Amino acid sequence: MAENTVLSSGSSGNSSNSLTMTQSIGEERLMVAVRVRPTANAKEEKCIQILSKKSLYFDDGSKNKPKKYVYDYVFDEDSTQDEVYQTTTSPLIKDVLQGLSAAVFAYGATGSGKTHTMLGPNPKKAATPSSELPPKTTSKQGDGLMVKAIDEIFRYVDESENPSDFKVSISYLEIYNELIRDLLNPGSPLELREDNRGQRITVAGLSEITAISRQEVIQLLLKGNKARTMEPTAANQTSSRSHALLSVSVIHRSPLGTKLGRLFLTDLAGSERAKKTKNRGKRLQEGAHINRSLLALGNCINALSGGAKYVNYRDSKLTRLLKEALSGRCKTVMIAHVSPEGQHRDETKNTLVYADRANHITTRLQNPE
Ligand code: ADP
Ligand code: MG
Repeated sequence: MAENTVLSSGSSGNSSNSLTMTQSIGEERLMVAVRVRPTANAKEEKCIQILSKKSLYFDDGSKNKPKKYVYDYVFDEDSTQDEVYQTTTSPLIKDVLQGLSAAVFAYGATGSGKTHTMLGPNPKKAATPSSELPPKTTSKQGDGLMVKAIDEIFRYVDESENPSDFKVSISYLEIYNELIRDLLNPGSPLELREDNRGQRITVAGLSEITAISRQEVIQLLLKGNKARTMEPTAANQTSSRSHALLSVSVIHRSPLGTKLGRLFLTDLAGSERAKKTKNRGKRLQEGAHINRSLLALGNCINALSGGAKYVNYRDSKLTRLLKEALSGRCKTVMIAHVSPEGQHRDETKNTLVYADRANHITTRLQNPE
């Protein structure tokens, strides 16, 4: 397979897969979606043109013809938080309640909309109407996947025959420069522990909060997000240099036994290249760590979707922590975020190519040559 496997219009014809019917992750093992954020300035030149719910054109700014990329789903600039949730995450909730694990990743450069998707509109900006926020965004509609997922889990539990058989708890951590920090109770870095066979990985001392109400959960997430390591870079003043990982655990006790299901929702660190942000010293080191774990994650997803017998989770803390969700029958969703403005062309292309690699392999699997 060629580097930068970009679909030409010709080859896109046979890339349809079973998601066409359901347009949600449904029974699939891996879903790769792209979300295009709204432009801050409508007059600005764009490098992306959306063709359908599955495809877009990317213009690299040269004389070359725009290239067509095909994904499991493309969310356009007007897509709502609900549409993103219903398509990508809601179908995973039943699995989690049945004792399986699942993971959703928000990938993309700083400013591309990852935190918006995962948590919701920036609360500071939401207070003063901003041109970046569409007027229809209200607090509840605007909630991100983290909040909506917890909401749906609570609804299922409340509507079940015996709600007291369930215990829902959350933990929220960041991985910064390969160090793990508790976002619900910030302090010194925490260590990963493995059981003897390396099967189960835990974070020693990580707080696990038994979630009680929706409001409390939102407060905890907002507070946790404020504790994230923010370092100014030339790309963005409040660039998130850390991966934030929310884990929602559901324990269900019944006469048939105890099941533990876990949903991992990850707001990944900005994927921009270190050299792009004119970083020096500490910043450069962060960039190297970030790229290492994003590369390790991409490798795991590629290996898994390609049916590899051996998948190397050990390359980064991120992949070690997510091993249970990336293996077995568990489902994974990658939502790649891009800005449509021409000025972000390089990062947009990198993100489209990263997402395309994972997607290509599932497509080939479903349509063996
Ligand atoms: P990232 O987490 O990738 O760095 P953010 O989620 O913080 O990016 O997004 C940057 C800005 O753009 C924020 O002010 C955010 O509210 C806004 N934004 C991003 N995506 C959307 C969207 N789909 N709709 C409206 N505003 C958005
Ligand atoms: Mg962010």
